[in-house]
Amino acid sequence: MSSDHRFALDNCIKCSICVSHCPVARVTDKFAGPKQNGPDLERFRLEEPAAVHSSIGYCSNCKGCDVACPSGVAISAMNCRAKGEYVSLHGASLRDKILARVEGMGKAARLAPSIVNRLAGFQPLRLLAEKMLGVSAVMTLPRYAEKTFLELYKSKNIDEKKTKVLYYPGCYVNYNAPEVGLALAEVLAHNNIQLEVEQFNCCGLPLIANGLLDMARDQAKNNLEKLQGYINRGYHIITTCPSCNLTLRREYQELFQLNTDSLNEKMLDAFEYLGMLLQQGKMVARFEELPLRIGYHQPCHLKAAGCGVPSREILQLIPGLRVEDLDAGCCGLSGSYGFKKEKYAISQEIGRNVFNAVKELGVHQVISECGMCQLQIYHLTGAAVYHPLQVLAQACGPGRWLAK
Ligand code: SF4
Ligand code: SF4
Repeated sequence: MSSDHRFALDNCIKCSICVSHCPVARVTDKFAGPKQNGPDLERFRLEEPAAVHSSIGYCSNCKGCDVACPSGVAISAMNCRAKGEYVSLHGASLRDKILARVEGMGKAARLAPSIVNRLAGFQPLRLLAEKMLGVSAVMTLPRYAEKTFLELYKSKNIDEKKTKVLYYPGCYVNYNAPEVGLALAEVLAHNNIQLEVEQFNCCGLPLIANGLLDMARDQAKNNLEKLQGYINRGYHIITTCPSCNLTLRREYQELFQLNTDSLNEKMLDAFEYLGMLLQQGKMVARFEELPLRIGYHQPCHLKAAGCGVPSREILQLIPGLRVEDLDAGCCGLSGSYGFKKEKYAISQEIGRNVFNAVKELGVHQVISECGMCQLQIYHLTGAAVYHPLQVLAQACGPGRWLAK
């Protein structure tokens, strides 16, 4: 444990603000809450790691507590470490080991994505998986794309004269939603910027959230080494997934004590990067009219990044587009959390606010930067859900980015 971590513990003034902002503690008494599981129990865990309690598994790692805490206590990081301690003492379930290996699942699904997608919708198999493994039989599963983003994009030629940026697509874009990465490439091409790609490991967040910290640490080191090579050559690193971004920039440092200073300087959310271009007068702000009214859901991990809603400034440049903020808090899915049988009902109860907001606004299309938020909103409401980059790409030219 670092001395910083102990110091942060002493910072807890026991105000309980984190408890009132915890979406899980709001809907279930199975989880004692961020203060109790975080700084309160951490005092015991520092002396006796076995003091970690199994209820720590109910923390969804949404990071709402970190955002709310007036004293800057790293509550969610304490919970992640505690989950790691619990798993190293008691082991992880087979279900959690599978759900944590998002990269491995993506690679396996590559062998026959359409068969995997069909099996995911085959109810008898889903009921069996619920009974045998504990994976909810009713939660919508992400669909795998026929070709990965890296397969679809890598054949493009690199134009040496253009500004180049490196893209960290994350597993969801690579295996499930390559259209988001292609939309980014389209938007950057509109601005005469070349997107470069590279094979990375999963950021490790699903492993961290399931307490498999040793494997996550190995992947973190691999990713950081590769990214550092590009940063040394002057590249900006672009992400489209707020959770990947937060994990790489903050969790690697907080959980694994890796130095992420250069990432914090050079890694940007796609819309942060576009905002920077806009400020520098380098953005091509020439957009086609888009007469749409769309709901916007801010992912928890974008909120935790503390960069506001960078897409708002850019999307308001599109003539005809109206973006309405759902302002409904956590969607409840939180990565693998809402796929777990015992957590599905909690996840849906948390997401009820999002469902109500979509219905009250009467919107049929929603945008959100996080693939898992998109899935949960679709599952809750049936609305068509996109990444904001797909809307921006639609306004850049004649391509069809919003048809589902
Ligand atoms: S990370 Fe989210 S679920 Fe976990 S304690 Fe904090 S607010 Fe609650
Ligand atoms: S919000 Fe921060 S200071 Fe207040 S109880 Fe929670 S951890 Fe302690």
